[in-house]
Amino acid sequence: MKRIGPLIIVEGPNNSKVPFSRSIYIDSPDKVLIDSGAEPKALQDIRDQFGVHVILNTHYHPDHTQHNHLFPNAEKWINQIEFDTARTIEGIARANGIYQEWGDAGVEMWKKNLPEEWVQNLKQISGTYEYEVEYSFGGVKVWMLHTPGHTSGLASPYFPDLGVVYASDYDMTSFGPWYNGTDGDIDDFIKSADRLLSLDAHTYITGHQKGIFSKDEFKQEMVKFLNVIDKRDEMVENYTRKGLSFDELTEVGIFYPKNTLSVPIFKTWERSGIRKHLHRLGLTVSERDGALVTAKC
Ligand SMILES: [Zn+2]
Repeated sequence: MKRIGPLIIVEGPNNSKVPFSRSIYIDSPDKVLIDSGAEPKALQDIRDQFGVHVILNTHYHPDHTQHNHLFPNAEKWINQIEFDTARTIEGIARANGIYQEWGDAGVEMWKKNLPEEWVQNLKQISGTYEYEVEYSFGGVKVWMLHTPGHTSGLASPYFPDLGVVYASDYDMTSFGPWYNGTDGDIDDFIKSADRLLSLDAHTYITGHQKGIFSKDEFKQEMVKFLNVIDKRDEMVENYTRKGLSFDELTEVGIFYPKNTLSVPIFKTWERSGIRKHLHRLGLTVSERDGALVTAKC
């Protein structure tokens, strides 16, 4: 485990690749853990060796909340925007675009395969933290910055005295930005990226894969990362010019590799994500026949 001052960085399996993520433990008398998507054994070791009183979940996605249940005695706090979403399966289904794309029947199908422990985690979210105020955990100062885009409520923990930011899903992976839930927003994603870069910080810790960046590295990588949005715009525009229907467009593989689109949740996010790029082009999907039509303002 790496350490930056009082922060212990707890890795997830497979370099914290989705469906896992990196957690951060604030080693102070207040015993605070940020996100619980890291390797279960490593989290249990932290729990047993140091103790965990509070978990701060940056957002409700399972790869950041999935091991909350390993801490039955800890308070579990999430941001105020996502508190309701995070506590019910229906809330999660709505935010993930499952209702939007498949209706009630799709939600029923999706519910059948959910891990039991993860479902229990939802009910255990016990409170909220506030955005944009200074918390001091045993003297370690942290601000939960509101950085919407990936989800509407995503918080990015910023440690001003340490010059460190936990940039969670600004993960700089080749996949590019993820804003595919109904609560994701491309313009907000870009604005929040600028905000993260404007902070007085020298170290950025991401939630997945390559973990620790200097500010210069993070800045350079952010250009490439956000460029993926433009590439998606171009692809969607080119295919619509060729006359593809919405259903045909969702078979191409704009976000996910074509051969993975048989996985229902990937197909769901592919569809939901493409709708956002169509919206940027001023297009919408006709409910009547799935054709792409000019959006009414
Ligand atoms: Zn996420």
